Amino acid sequence: MNSTPSICPICHAPVKCGAQAPDQQCWCMQYPPLPASVIQETQTCLCESCLQDRLQRAGIDWQTGKDPIPKK
Ligand SMILES: [Zn+2]
Repeated sequence: MNSTPSICPICHAPVKCGAQAPDQQCWCMQYPPLPASVIQETQTCLCESCLQDRLQRAGIDWQTGKDPIPKK
């Protein structure tokens, strides 16, 4: 059982993940998945604002959920 609240590794805010039960959905599931490189870097859930920031840095438009458009 893992009921310990996560801490955002970037800003150290407490992260409430709603996905601790199989039939629950976390708010973070509404966002597109982070690139594997970012997940390996952080190793844990991010708070909502930092998740948005990381997605933007990765070039992912989290507001629409679309994949980044390749730059020519
Ligand atoms: Zn944070």
